[in-house]
Amino acid sequence: MIADKPARQVASLTLDKTTFSYGETTLAFDVEFPAGKISAVMGPSGSGKSTLLNLVAGFEIPSSGRILINGKDFTATSPAERPVSMVFQENNLFAHLDVFRNVGLGISPSLTLDSGGHAAIADALARTGLAGKEKRLPRELSGGERQRVALARALVRDRPVLLLDEPFASLGPALREDMLELVAAMQIERKMTTLFVTHQPEDARRLASHVVFLENGTVAAAGEAADFFSADGPEAFRRYAGSAGSTPLASNAH
Ligand code: ADP
Ligand code: MG
Repeated sequence: MIADKPARQVASLTLDKTTFSYGETTLAFDVEFPAGKISAVMGPSGSGKSTLLNLVAGFEIPSSGRILINGKDFTATSPAERPVSMVFQENNLFAHLDVFRNVGLGISPSLTLDSGGHAAIADALARTGLAGKEKRLPRELSGGERQRVALARALVRDRPVLLLDEPFASLGPALREDMLELVAAMQIERKMTTLFVTHQPEDARRLASHVVFLENGTVAAAGEAADFFSADGPEAFRRYAGSAGSTPLASNAH
């Protein structure tokens, strides 16, 4: 059972003077994310949020600088070998594999599963409210259910760094609320160092203890969520967040 697992190591995460270019566009990140906490990654469209996450996941390789996880250099490590799980906005699942197998890929890319693996998958499906839907194909699920499958896979993969790239952007408000609760619960249980990309200041307030704000391919401001959301938070962030960014904290960010 998940709850009986021993306390895990929490991982610090640093992008150490990393640069990356798409042709003319150059991005540069030099930033540290606190170990075992949720950081909201925010910023206008095109500011570099997805690129930052892709550099951590290993889907992009920086042209200079290093990706450090718990001080260890993972810059040249393949995505599968990194202590990282990622959930995208959509298209996280293999269309021809049922829910059980899509989750099982988090344990074994070849779907070689022992009884412990089966139990872990059943547990993750129960946690994400998907029990009974094991045999469904992705097309037989709602958008929210598909994102739950992706989260269940991240649960069984059980890596210390979790990257969420606008995972709930395509969901309606009620469903998004459920998913936020699920991520909060996962975080309390697993203490993953989580990067959560969101356009919703409200989501960031709910979940994040730390905020990294990007503009034009670099970090424009970073700090405690409480500071960001206070009336004298960083100017660039307040401009971006508008009135939602300067009202008092609605709930206690952990
Ligand atoms: P965000 O996720 O914040 O919207 P991205 O990381 O996707 O931003 O993009 C950062 C910048 O890199 C943007 O200027 C974008 O146009 C550019 N970019 C992203 N992906 C590519 C790509 N595959 N080819 C060329 N430019 C890209
Ligand atoms: Mg993006």
